[in-house]
Amino acid sequence: MSLQLYNTLSRAVEPFEPLAPGRVSLYTCGPTVYNFAHIGNFRTFLFEDLLRRWLEASGYDVFHVMNLTDVDDKTIKGAAEAGAPLRQHVEQYITAFQEDRHYLRIRDASAYPRATDFIPSMVRLVQGLIERGIAYRGDDGSVYFAIARFPAYGRLSRLDTRELRAGASERVSADEYAKEDARDFALWKAAKPEDEAVGAAWDAPFGRGRPGWHLECSAMALDLLKDKWGGDVLDIHAGGVDLIFPHHEDEIAQSCAFTGEEQFARYWMHGEFLTLSGTKMSKRFGNILTARDLQVEGVDAGAVRLLIFNTHYRQKLDWSDEALDAAREGSRRLGEFRDRVMKAAGAGGSEDAAFAEAAAGFRRDFTAALDDDLNAPRGLAALFGFAREGNRLLDEGRVPGRGALDALALADAVLDVMPSGTTRLEITGAGSGAAGGTAAEASGVVELPQVPPPGGDRAAMDAWALAWAGRRREAKLARDYAEADRIRERLRAAGYDVRDGRSGVEIVRLTV
Ligand SMILES: [Zn+2]
Repeated sequence: MSLQLYNTLSRAVEPFEPLAPGRVSLYTCGPTVYNFAHIGNFRTFLFEDLLRRWLEASGYDVFHVMNLTDVDDKTIKGAAEAGAPLRQHVEQYITAFQEDRHYLRIRDASAYPRATDFIPSMVRLVQGLIERGIAYRGDDGSVYFAIARFPAYGRLSRLDTRELRAGASERVSADEYAKEDARDFALWKAAKPEDEAVGAAWDAPFGRGRPGWHLECSAMALDLLKDKWGGDVLDIHAGGVDLIFPHHEDEIAQSCAFTGEEQFARYWMHGEFLTLSGTKMSKRFGNILTARDLQVEGVDAGAVRLLIFNTHYRQKLDWSDEALDAAREGSRRLGEFRDRVMKAAGAGGSEDAAFAEAAAGFRRDFTAALDDDLNAPRGLAALFGFAREGNRLLDEGRVPGRGALDALALADAVLDVMPSGTTRLEITGAGSGAAGGTAAEASGVVELPQVPPPGGDRAAMDAWALAWAGRRREAKLARDYAEADRIRERLRAAGYDVRDGRSGVEIVRLTV
């Protein structure tokens, strides 16, 4: 079986066939940079990262564009409140987004176009639509797309006219009288004093103003695709399910009316919502969890990715503390298995036949799962199965080799759910102070050496570090913070990072 993907356009799983062999153009709607992106936004970006990584693992050359929406109502409002020019105000959120993306190991897109850098392309697109008689200038000076003159409208969202009218009047413009039809949406919004105040207005033949959000994506996608490979049709366009209507429907209308092509993208893929302990995340309810909250809490990105990928991208996902704890444990177990394999792998690449067979079985199941509309939960199950079987073989003294290492490298290239190149040793002493090492060591009865035991024996070093972590915990309980800090420095010097996790102390080996 080759790659099959669910296409929102046909509401069916279809074999994936790119326009040109060996390469894929992928456009994904990026963040609106008015705030820190929350974990719901990142669920979508992680689904797209999985898609991108699986396409690459399957041998495709992927041209991936993710836009940054730096001009819209929210960014303009934020800039006005901060009393800063728009471009300057959003800079901090662009930096934050890139930092969060790196933390979550989301691969770099080929391009991150900023909307305000593409105003001339947007003006050209609007002008073209006016010339084709599909867009018109409303009484309020804004330019609208005439849905009645584009018969294919509604093909993606499959909403009937009544629903379209309700959606359009709610989301597109407050002034219905400026438009010929309530369903019409704004391509270009006439400049208002508040736009001018933050530098969010540009001259155009059809009047000074700023682009509508939908227009931004069409213009940037068409522009960058033309530059890269030529052509007006994308292979895949992806985003969250909330973007199907009106955003993606409008992107299709603008782009196809402009290019004359029947399609804007051949495959439309949408990731489902994330809820937080059963409720949809929203500012209104104050239940927002950002990527940086997780980073500050010391949550490893591997665990976040594991939690997200453990639910298929087309299913709703509920984020909870319990799910996160389970993901951390799962990620830790996989990391431990990887470490064991790396340590035990035969020097000459020789491999025990049973190991080679287990690795080949994993690759087969994993590939079949991902080819089946990116079934990451099944891919993860295959990985855990391989870890179980592999651990058993290691216990028997069987030697892993090239096959096992390649299998783990594939898992890392696609899912990347293991801890960040470290071995995590968790101590959960629950307040007794007897955490790690033997009780005698932890209670300070035995003299502990200041430096790790010589010889570089991993197990002996870990035991030494665990014992000192126990001492540090005791020092903290006795409010001897100076001693606790000294111990932390001593551990750092030996390559261990000690942190206060939620369930006791955890130490992380920094260098492998
Ligand atoms: Zn978009």
